[in-house]
Amino acid sequence: RKREFAATRLLDSVTRDGIPVRLMLNAGLLIDLPHLHATGADGIGLYRTEIPFMVRHTYPDTAIQKETYAKVLDEAGDKPVTFRTLDVGGDKTLPYFPDLGEENPALGWRAIRIGLDRPAMLRKQLRALLWAASGRDLRLMFPMVAEVSEFIRARRVLDLELRRLEQDKMAPPRDLKVGVMMEVPALLFQLDALLPHIDFMSVGSNDLLQYLFASDRGNPMLNNRYDLLSPAMLTVLRMLVRRCEAAGVQLSLCGEMASRPLDAMALLGCGFRTLSMSPGAFGEVKTMIRSLDVGVLQPFLDSLLNRQDRSLRQHLLAFARDHG
Ligand code: PEP
Ligand code: MG
Repeated sequence: RKREFAATRLLDSVTRDGIPVRLMLNAGLLIDLPHLHATGADGIGLYRTEIPFMVRHTYPDTAIQKETYAKVLDEAGDKPVTFRTLDVGGDKTLPYFPDLGEENPALGWRAIRIGLDRPAMLRKQLRALLWAASGRDLRLMFPMVAEVSEFIRARRVLDLELRRLEQDKMAPPRDLKVGVMMEVPALLFQLDALLPHIDFMSVGSNDLLQYLFASDRGNPMLNNRYDLLSPAMLTVLRMLVRRCEAAGVQLSLCGEMASRPLDAMALLGCGFRTLSMSPGAFGEVKTMIRSLDVGVLQPFLDSLLNRQDRSLRQHLLAFARDHG
């Protein structure tokens, strides 16, 4: 696997029929950053800001946060980085945060819900990000948004911090793009209201599958029960591609799905052109891309979506075998 990824690092990420695909890295710790250059990634598609919080014993103050984010931007150079605000709660707990004893942590007080209920925490994080990105490009997104109004409230908190930056006579980011994670199915039904407010959307397929099928992502009993390559999931993804394209909103996917070659192939068939994945996946995914005729796959995938199968995996696997 390692050899394959070394060999593909310098090759273009373009399908056989000439469609470029942007490959981005998922990261969370400073030690992940060398992968950005080792993989030849186009940037960091998901920087999970909660990871550096999780490995500490105390809550990091704004200055410490700023230092971390600035290092990430320094290391990335002119490659774009998408920072996701704190996504704690659910399966991600902080050692210095009280255990709430929630009955359903995955459906509990987590991510942007905490950010909006404890705005001081969100404000400090946004302040640190703005400090780090002063005069540079900044891409920000909010996790686990279920309602448009939650996005708008989070955006307002960001605007407050932008005003404060101005008062402090600090340069704002050169370019600021604000987006949302698509992880909660309710948001799928608010696209008309949502799309005009966002610059980009990133699908969190780990959580979207979990909530779409009401199936715990960490429960081994349910591991293979529902498939990312199901008609339901792929229909949702296909719809998002169409809607984002029509609205001029950039779309990517940063769940583990993008790291598996067959699943990534299905994403290209749905129309995705930006995928964000773990570092070990680059070689295999790029090899798949370079052998894929996406113009042939796309109509084939469309023709599968109305089938009754619980999974379209076998059909897609057969396609992959027949088409190199
Ligand atoms: C996801 O839910 O797919 C995602 C990328 O976020 P996380 O895995 O950090 O919950
Ligand atoms: Mg998630």
